[in-house]
Amino acid sequence: MQLNDKVSLITGAAGGIGLGIARRFIAAGSKVAIADINMDAARQVVAELGEDRAMAVAMDVTDEDAVNAGVQAVVDRWGRVDVLVSNAGVQIVHPIEDFPFAAWKKMLAIHLDGAFLTTKAVLPHMYAQGSGSVLLMGSVHSKLASPLKSAYVTAKHGLMGLARVIAKEGGPKGVRANVICPGFVRTPLVDKQIPEQAKTLGISEEEVVNNIMLGGTVTKEFTTIEDVAEVALTFAAFPTNALTGQSLIVSHGWHME
Ligand code: NAD
Repeated sequence: MQLNDKVSLITGAAGGIGLGIARRFIAAGSKVAIADINMDAARQVVAELGEDRAMAVAMDVTDEDAVNAGVQAVVDRWGRVDVLVSNAGVQIVHPIEDFPFAAWKKMLAIHLDGAFLTTKAVLPHMYAQGSGSVLLMGSVHSKLASPLKSAYVTAKHGLMGLARVIAKEGGPKGVRANVICPGFVRTPLVDKQIPEQAKTLGISEEEVVNNIMLGGTVTKEFTTIEDVAEVALTFAAFPTNALTGQSLIVSHGWHME
């Protein structure tokens, strides 16, 4: 699986899973745009990955102008966009009756508006090239629900629908779209939830990890950033567009279908 001479744009790539995907794609030969709202972290990442193969792109994925300017900056530098990984995401947990409306809207904006706006911005370039691969970062929560996660589950389910429409519209123009569905991965996004869930549910942090996060897995293991990056590479580098409109769960068997 190689991405030689490809240009990949990854949102939320200054840390966590997005950074892991960026590292894997560079190892596979891709040039990578590190698009993130946290520019200090993005610049540090680019310094580490090498300015010849990586570029930092300032992008709040909920801001249409910022998304369009970021995609244009990538095209200006490297002339094309072959792979979009819409990965930027946050987590906010509350029971529905306490979920602040502003927090709900923020969650849907980052996960759904972000995927829509970045896709909308790259598609004209991919259509002009006659090829492209769009990856949306879903979750096991694209397939099932958990308490406290109404906004996250709603958004992650929504990405399944968006990917299928991109696959239908993009197919005749050489563009494919797929969804990656990881189980729990130890990143800042998950570390933040452990004490929050323990408090809301009235259980220990150890119980949150062992029962809620890993209770359904077959080996009581977290999925790793490297596991997710390998799935991303498979979708990005697959040699034909036969692989489109699909989702792949990587979760140590937490959810099987
Ligand atoms: P993370 O918090 O480690 O990293 C998220 C990155 O997104 C950060 O670099 C942050 O600066 C960036 N970001 C946040 N808001 C942004 C915005 N508006 N515009 C641009 N960038 C923004 O999180 P992570 O765990 O690596 O999660 C990445 C994706 O993977 C998310 O979509 C998340 O829902 C999904 N996911 C994570 C897990 C998990 O267990 N960690 C499981 C399944 C799916």
